[in-house]
Amino acid sequence: MKNSPKKKVLITGATSGIGRATAYELAREGHDLILTGRRDDRLKKIQDELVQVHPGIHVRTMAFDVRNQAQVEEALASLKDQDVDVLLNNAGLAKGFSEIHEGDLEDWEQMIDTNIKGLLYVSKIVSGWMVKRGKGQILNICSVAGKQPYPNGNVYCATKHAVDALTHTMRIDLHKYGIRVGQVSPSHVEETEFAEVRFDGDKERGQQVYENWQPLKSSDVAEIIAFMISRPAHVNIQDVDVFGSQQATATIVDRSG
Ligand code: NDP
Repeated sequence: MKNSPKKKVLITGATSGIGRATAYELAREGHDLILTGRRDDRLKKIQDELVQVHPGIHVRTMAFDVRNQAQVEEALASLKDQDVDVLLNNAGLAKGFSEIHEGDLEDWEQMIDTNIKGLLYVSKIVSGWMVKRGKGQILNICSVAGKQPYPNGNVYCATKHAVDALTHTMRIDLHKYGIRVGQVSPSHVEETEFAEVRFDGDKERGQQVYENWQPLKSSDVAEIIAFMISRPAHVNIQDVDVFGSQQATATIVDRSG
């Protein structure tokens, strides 16, 4: 984005999908990045690629599991400058697709611990730094699932409704400290591992979600995030509901070609 001042952006879940696409988009725009996720090898590879193509930016990586409060605290404590301008809370997942009585407790715990508690562990620390600096921006990746409950989506929808509520309440708490809080709520996004993770590594089942129509691409969401970051300090885009054109609601998709 032209004339967007250089920022330092911390992305959770930067090893694939929307987080990785956003890292590439923001690197193109000259921002410094702190990339996080559990898969350190992937983080290092992305870091190598980015600094090679964009030698003017600084890219740091930190491997940790957002569900592990001690790991989150230790990793963030290593950021001595505490000068994160933008926090992108993107790490998250759906796991399983069953009616409530057939749900898997471990899947539920993983979604709740990642999508809600992990987001909170990171946000508490980084928002504290932002309050001290009197500026900052927090962007949460919510979902259409955070707006429209759908069949078999029960616990995932609940976690994303929680993200939606947190975006609102974080904004209420933080706007008076000069901190902008917003979110992007996408429908189906391809070029991610989302469906594969949801269906427990079953690539074929995951691929069916995207068959015979054009969903959003991870780069579409990344461009929206970059635009939100590029707005001047007096502008806060609070929420972007973004759908592929062939998707009307959480469940209605035109697959006629
Ligand atoms: P991906 O599976 O491609 O990416 C998920 C990212 O989250 C990975 O980088 C993964 O990194 C990270 N992550 C998952 N669990 C943890 C954890 N415990 N600790 C740290 N990082 C973790 O999917 P998407 O890019 O699609 O997902 C990004 C966000 O977008 C999620 O919040 C998802 O709910 C949301 N979303 C996705 C949609 C879609 O259709 N794809 C639609 C709407 C919202 P690693 O495994 O290395 O830890």
